[in-house]
Amino acid sequence: MSSWIRVNMYKTHNCGALREGDQGQSVTLAGWVNRRRDQGGLIFIDLRDRWGIVQVVVNQEQASQAHHTASTARNEYVLQVKGQVRVRPEGTHNPELATGTIEVIADDITILNTSKTPPFYINTDDEAIDESRRMQYRYLDLRRPAMQYNIILRHRIVKYIRDYLDGQGFVEIETPILFKTTPEGARDFLVPSRLQPGKFYALPQSPQQLKQLLMVAGYERYFQIARCFRDEDLRGDRQPEFTQLDMEMSFVQREDVMQLNEGLVLSLVQTIVPHKRLLAAPLPRLTYQEVMEKYGSDKPDLRYDLAAVDVSAIAAKSAFPIFQANTAEGKPVKVLRAPGLLRSKEDQDKAISGEALKRLMKELEDLAKTAGAKGLAWMALPLNEAEEVKGPIGKYFTVEQKAQLFDQVDAQPGDILLFMSDKRETVYKCVDLLRTNLAERLNLADPDLLAFAWVIDFPMFYWDEENQRWDPSQHMFTSPLPEDIPLLDTDPGQSRGSQYDLICNGYEIGGGSIRIHNRELQEKIFPLIGQTMEHARDQFGHMLEAFEYGVPPHGGMAWGVDRLSMIFAGAPNIREVIAFPKTQQGADAMAHAPSYAEQKQLDELYIQVTIEPEEAEQAE
Ligand code: ASP
Repeated sequence: MSSWIRVNMYKTHNCGALREGDQGQSVTLAGWVNRRRDQGGLIFIDLRDRWGIVQVVVNQEQASQAHHTASTARNEYVLQVKGQVRVRPEGTHNPELATGTIEVIADDITILNTSKTPPFYINTDDEAIDESRRMQYRYLDLRRPAMQYNIILRHRIVKYIRDYLDGQGFVEIETPILFKTTPEGARDFLVPSRLQPGKFYALPQSPQQLKQLLMVAGYERYFQIARCFRDEDLRGDRQPEFTQLDMEMSFVQREDVMQLNEGLVLSLVQTIVPHKRLLAAPLPRLTYQEVMEKYGSDKPDLRYDLAAVDVSAIAAKSAFPIFQANTAEGKPVKVLRAPGLLRSKEDQDKAISGEALKRLMKELEDLAKTAGAKGLAWMALPLNEAEEVKGPIGKYFTVEQKAQLFDQVDAQPGDILLFMSDKRETVYKCVDLLRTNLAERLNLADPDLLAFAWVIDFPMFYWDEENQRWDPSQHMFTSPLPEDIPLLDTDPGQSRGSQYDLICNGYEIGGGSIRIHNRELQEKIFPLIGQTMEHARDQFGHMLEAFEYGVPPHGGMAWGVDRLSMIFAGAPNIREVIAFPKTQQGADAMAHAPSYAEQKQLDELYIQVTIEPEEAEQAE
């Protein structure tokens, strides 16, 4: 953090900037009372501003007026302090503070403002503060050093991105918030128009169409730190409005966009979080097929290498009826090896008790069931070779089959092997859930490791069973891989998109694709995804028309700035890196948004609300 000196009307120095070299300086400081210790003739005040904390000493004999004022000050009062910098006496240095070798002897103290007792401590980074209180008093929460660190870190990330892209010839262009549907697969937020009653704007789910139109307009390299809006259910890594680093480039192929973004990731890490380690650079590239088969997720956490192994061939030969039946139907049998899970936490040379093993397996089985599995078969390899393999299905495998199986999954004494067999999608879900759960139990995810990687070769579409149509796996403007274009006519489900996702530590940090820049190809996509040409023309006529005026080949990407900041800050969710986030109910708990509109406002918009407030409250 910068410690530059700034002189303004209220202060000559920042609290956190003073050092031994400032000995003897007359200074004027301004900030908040972080803590006050009254020792009678001496009062110590830790004065805090954005740059840090400094100890102020007020001596009754030397500065009786200041001492009187200090005696009335309380935590979070806003003070202006005039005094001299002094090196602290031997033995009273505070190594916890950057200013810990000096103190300021006060001559004069002015109370600039008083403060009520805050509803929680501002001066600790205690994580146990109730989150609803933090949200309600967000301005106080944001005053805490941990939050200031996060918000300033985010500023540095965004600033770095801006400078980096500027250096690469990108132009930052703002696109409208009041627009027309720009779908990314979520519900739109609608805004009624007063000037055109009955009509609505949609808030952009991303600037996707607009950035493509900027390519038609010839800007070649665009970016924006863009606010996006998606009306979907909230999770730890999702908010109804969030921030993207959005970019688009012309005359590029997949490789160009990936390389540029990889350069940005690597230098961001080096500059902003040099204390974190990268798992691999250049970033690994994995295909969608590969990550799904191994990790059951298209955004696996690669900090730990728990990977599922397909053991269908051996399982088919076992005498276990379910494996026999499933493999005959083409359903896979996969094993996830939990390394050393049988070992007791207290004593790694001992196995957990039979009771504890039973409890553990019940927990894991319940978890597998939440993913739709009917059960979870397992084998536990004893620590001592003389003992038998534990678990319900060991008896169905011959000694040779077991040996072959253990060899295939590289099983070691103390490992528990978890067997999953079901429809492929169910197996994927189980692998993903169990993997994440095991990593937590075994403490495998190193918080200082950044496992960035690319996932490529996504399927172009997923089959939507409910609506009996294909859904674009990214969005409708993504181009198929050139070699897969013919598959759109014959076997769309097999076609792969030119999409690339950037993942890190179990999160999708960004995604993008090369776009369709040819009108006929775009028109082929609409019917596949269940859009009539009429509807498409109504919604996206401007795009189709623009595509008649010399569209360059183009592609781009967008990153989730909130998620990236969360990972860099080591925060548990994105609310920790957003100044004023929404709660899980999509509300602003401080200002109480959303709220009811006044009748006059509704009348101007010709809007009639058909739900009564009591009924609405129940529906929440
Ligand atoms: N618009 C896409 C998204 O929001 C990103 C892109 O394709 O550039 O995920």
